[in-house]
Amino acid sequence: MELDRLYRCSWYHRWVESRASLIRDPVRRLCYLRRAMPVLPRRRSGVHAMLLMAAAFGLVMIAIPGQNAGSGWLLDREVAAPYRETRVAPEAAVWIVESRGTYEVYSNGLRIETDGVVENEPRVSNVLQAGRLSVIAGQSAPAGIVFHTTESHIAPFEVTNNLRLQRVGRWLRDFVAQNRSYHYLIDRFGRVHRVVRESDAAYHAGVSVWGIQQTVWVNLNHSFLGVAFESQTTAGDKLAESVTPAQIRAAATLTSMLRSRYNLPADNCVTHAQVSVNPANMGIGLHTDWGANFPFAEVGLPDNYGQPLAAIHQFGFIADESYLNATGPRLARGIESAEQTLSSQATALNLATDVHRQALQQRYRKIMSALPKQLAAATQESKENRQ
Ligand SMILES: [Zn+2]
Repeated sequence: MELDRLYRCSWYHRWVESRASLIRDPVRRLCYLRRAMPVLPRRRSGVHAMLLMAAAFGLVMIAIPGQNAGSGWLLDREVAAPYRETRVAPEAAVWIVESRGTYEVYSNGLRIETDGVVENEPRVSNVLQAGRLSVIAGQSAPAGIVFHTTESHIAPFEVTNNLRLQRVGRWLRDFVAQNRSYHYLIDRFGRVHRVVRESDAAYHAGVSVWGIQQTVWVNLNHSFLGVAFESQTTAGDKLAESVTPAQIRAAATLTSMLRSRYNLPADNCVTHAQVSVNPANMGIGLHTDWGANFPFAEVGLPDNYGQPLAAIHQFGFIADESYLNATGPRLARGIESAEQTLSSQATALNLATDVHRQALQQRYRKIMSALPKQLAAATQESKENRQ
């Protein structure tokens, strides 16, 4: 039976309505109705019609509290992640040369100010295996770096402002330490301050997603190191207006040391705009710092703006207009690549892209609702191991 004829059948309407009546949330109910009775192209196979009906049924099963223990069949489908080679060789060894009470010096010229370092909760990664997205337990080493800007007040970088620049920098360092905001802060003179110790989580990435090859990380505070430039960035700004040459040089040596210490893949060194998500509207980019102009090459990394965004191809997040306006054309390549992957997945499953996207979004919500329990257990285990 063709779909348009199917949608006109009264029994189909009754079936859809009876399913819809089981969905308590009115918005979800409306979404379901729209999905179950869409306006579709005229000619489709009967098999496709049945698949769409099955898809709609699967989504309802997920939406009904208490009936999703077995999960809808869409949730159990493997979702391929795009494979990308790490394009930069493993970092050459960087070692610590000198460690005093207030600073550390490394073999590549990096110097870290350690006098203001603070503790925080122990690091426990939220690592998921792509495909079925089952949680991989027990991984607590850092998996990558998320680069930020502090978006704090910055004075013109001129010698006449020297005292003011120092005063603002000191205030910022105290502020981010109090809030456990980052692992590292690079001030405008290129000094690297360790804020939160590397073994602990820092509250830098919030609700976030990143993935490469067959691994997906969610909420990266625990799994990625946060490195912030004292800076303000918006798309269209020239790099020279956002950061100083000293900051870029410091970021290069810091990135090199961290990659060497933790064997971090170059593809896992990305910006906040690439990983931040907003579950309230399923949009990417609640935060958009470094959405453009991040100096990947100068910091010794490949241009990771072209990496497909895992939030899209694993969880169906959407790059809306405000996100596109706040980011640059380099990052648009990553969005396009992720959308192509999502579309290929849908074709492989013989589903409309929208239906597949909705299923991925449902899967994200389901995974996230189960995560706090798993994280609490893992945190407890990690604390016990420390004692
Ligand atoms: Zn940020």
